[in-house]
Amino acid sequence: MSAETVSRCPGCGVVFSARDIEGMSRCPVCSLPFAARPSRPARPSAAGPLRGVHTAQAFVDPSTGHVVRFERAWLWALLFGPLYFAWRGAWFHAFMGIFAVVLTAGLAWLVYPFFAARLLRRHYLRQGFDPV
Ligand SMILES: [Zn+2]
Repeated sequence: MSAETVSRCPGCGVVFSARDIEGMSRCPVCSLPFAARPSRPARPSAAGPLRGVHTAQAFVDPSTGHVVRFERAWLWALLFGPLYFAWRGAWFHAFMGIFAVVLTAGLAWLVYPFFAARLLRRHYLRQGFDPV
């Protein structure tokens, strides 16, 4: 961990390596434009892990050291639908899921598995968890 360039999103506080957000004008987590981001380099020691923001299947709560994994998020989302997100504590996605399932007469139930891992990744990043 020496000279990697990192940026902290001013919106959600998630730290990205310059490589991860190359060519992006908006934060992939909270969709806020990067224009307002501070130009001072973040300290890598305080930044936490830099990789895995888009691929991580496990996150660690920095305050407790508790690790959560969701390798088969798609399967659980397929089996339990919105309840899976509720069990994960992602209440926003749970309620949105129920709403979407009702609205689409059940169709959304089959769509959510495709996005389950991505939604959970965002959920944990917003909670301040670091990708493992
Ligand atoms: Zn952000």
